[in-house]
Amino acid sequence: MASPAVNSLADAEPTPYWLTAHPAPHPCSTLTGATTADLVIVGGGYTGLWTALQAKEQDPGLDVVLVDADLCGSAASGRNGGFCAASLTHGLANGMARFADEMPALEAHGRRNLDAIEATLTRYGIDCDFRRSGELSVATEPWQVDELSRTAQLATSLGHRATLLTAEQARLKVDSPTYLGALEMPDAVAMLDPARLSWGLRRACLELGVRIHERTPATKIGDAPGGLLVETPYGSVRASHGVLATNAFPSLLRRLRHYIAPVYDHVLVTEPLSEAQLSSLRWRERQGVGDSANQFHYYRLTEDDRILWGGYDALYYYRGPVRSELTDRPATYALLAEHFFDTFPQLDGLRFTHRWGGVIDTCTRFCPFIGTAFDGRLGYALGYTGLGVGSSRFTAGVLLDKLYGHDTERSRLRLMNTAPVPFPPEPLRWLGIQLTRWSLNRADHNRGRRNLWLRTLDRAGLGFDS
Ligand SMILES: Cc1cc2nc3c(=O)[nH]c(=O)nc-3n(C[C@H](O)[C@H](O)[C@H](O)COP(=O)(O)OP(=O)(O)OC[C@H]3O[C@@H](n4cnc5c(N)ncnc54)[C@H](O)[C@@H]3O)c2cc1C
Repeated sequence: MASPAVNSLADAEPTPYWLTAHPAPHPCSTLTGATTADLVIVGGGYTGLWTALQAKEQDPGLDVVLVDADLCGSAASGRNGGFCAASLTHGLANGMARFADEMPALEAHGRRNLDAIEATLTRYGIDCDFRRSGELSVATEPWQVDELSRTAQLATSLGHRATLLTAEQARLKVDSPTYLGALEMPDAVAMLDPARLSWGLRRACLELGVRIHERTPATKIGDAPGGLLVETPYGSVRASHGVLATNAFPSLLRRLRHYIAPVYDHVLVTEPLSEAQLSSLRWRERQGVGDSANQFHYYRLTEDDRILWGGYDALYYYRGPVRSELTDRPATYALLAEHFFDTFPQLDGLRFTHRWGGVIDTCTRFCPFIGTAFDGRLGYALGYTGLGVGSSRFTAGVLLDKLYGHDTERSRLRLMNTAPVPFPPEPLRWLGIQLTRWSLNRADHNRGRRNLWLRTLDRAGLGFDS
C-alpha cells in the first residue's frame, strides 16, 4: 500500500506551476533566413533577457537579436523557486571562503542589484508578485544552530540586518515542530513569480525593439567578416558582438562544458491552503524559508497561498545529459513529500497539484563567472549553481561592460575576472560528484562533521552544491 506522502502526489501534474498559473505570451516567430544585428544573444532565460534589456537601455539604437531554442523562460528561469537573492556569491559563507577581501564590495553591489531589479519592474510595469519579504534560514539539527550563529555574525559584520531566533521565536514566524532555531534576514532576499519575471522582461525587451525568435536553436557559432555568425536550422544572424546565455545546456563553446555539471533539482507545489491551514502555519510575513543542511529544502508561499517545496535531492547523471524526461523523478517527489509532512504535520491530508524538475548549472565554486571568446566579441555568463534569479541581472551588466570596453568598478571585480576550477573528465566527474553527495549526506546525519574527502575538497576550494 502506498504511503500517505505518495498518495498526496497522486494528482500532481508534471508541469511547472508557474508556467501554467497565468497565461503565457504568444510565441515569437522562428528565425528564417539570414539577418544581421549589432548584438546577437543565444538563450532567452534571465541572463539573455537582462543582457538584451540593459543593452537597449544603454544604447536604444543598438540592433539586438535574441534566439531561444524553446520559449523564453521555459528552462530554469520559468521553473525556479523564485528566491531573488541580493547575494552574488551563493551566500555569505561561500563568498567569504573565496572572495573574502572583496565581500564588502560584492555585498554592496548585490544590494544595489536587488534595488535595480525592483526599479526595473516598476519602470516597465512588470507584475511578478515581487515582495521584499526576506529569508528565514532554519535549523533542524543542533549543529545547524551553531552554524546559523556564525552566519549571523558574518552577516552583521557585512552590514546586513540579521536576527537569531530561538526555536520558540522561529515557530512564531513559521510553525514547524522540526525547528530548533532560525536566522532571519529581512533584506537578503525578495520573493517573486519566476515565470512572470521572464515574461515581463521578454515583453520589455520587445517593447524596446529587441527582435526575439523562439523555437530557434543556435547550432553553431563562428567568425564572420566584421564579427560573428550564429547559425540556426532555418536561418543565421551575423553580428559584431554576441552573448551565450545557455546556462546548463551544452555550450556552443565546447570548452565551457568542462566548467559546468548539469544538476537536476525538483519541486512540488500544493493545492491552495485553507484559512485554517494557513493560520496553523503563522506564516504571515511570507518569507522564503531554507533549512541549513548540506542537502537542503527551500520553500515558500505562492500568491494564491500554495506552498512550493523543493530541493534536497540534487542529481547528476553520468556524462551530464540535459534531457526533459530526466526532470520527472517519482522517487525524488516521494522523498520531498515525506519531508514536507515531517516538517508540517498539521497539513496532513494536503494534496500536491504540481511536480517538476529543472536543470542547474553547477560549477565548483557555486557562483557565476563570465568571460569572453572570439577576441572579446563573444561573452558568456554561467555557473549560478541554483542562485541566479538575482545575480543574472548583475552578470548581464558586467558582460556588456566587457563586450563594449567599459572599465567599471564592477567589471574589475575578481569574481567577474576569474573562472572556477573545471570538473575532471568522465568517469572521474561522476564518481567525484557521487562521492561528494554521499559525504554531504553523511555529514548531515553526523552533526555536520565533514569527512576526509569533504575536508580535502574544502582545502582545494572545490565542492558540489545546488
Ligand atoms: C528547480 C530550480 C529551482 C531554482 N530555484 C532558484 C531560486 O529560488 N533562486 C535562484 O536564485 N535561483 C534558482 N534557480 C536557478 C535559476 O533559475 C537560474 O540560475 C537562472 O534561471 C539562470 O538563468 P539563465 O538565463 O542563465 O538560464 P536558463 O533560464 O536555463 O535559460 C537558458 C536558455 O537558453 C536556451 N538555450 C540553450 N541552448 C540553446 C541554443 N543552442 N540555442 C538557443 N537557445 C538555447 C534555453 O532554451 C533556455 O531558455 C533554480 C533552478 C532550478 C532548475
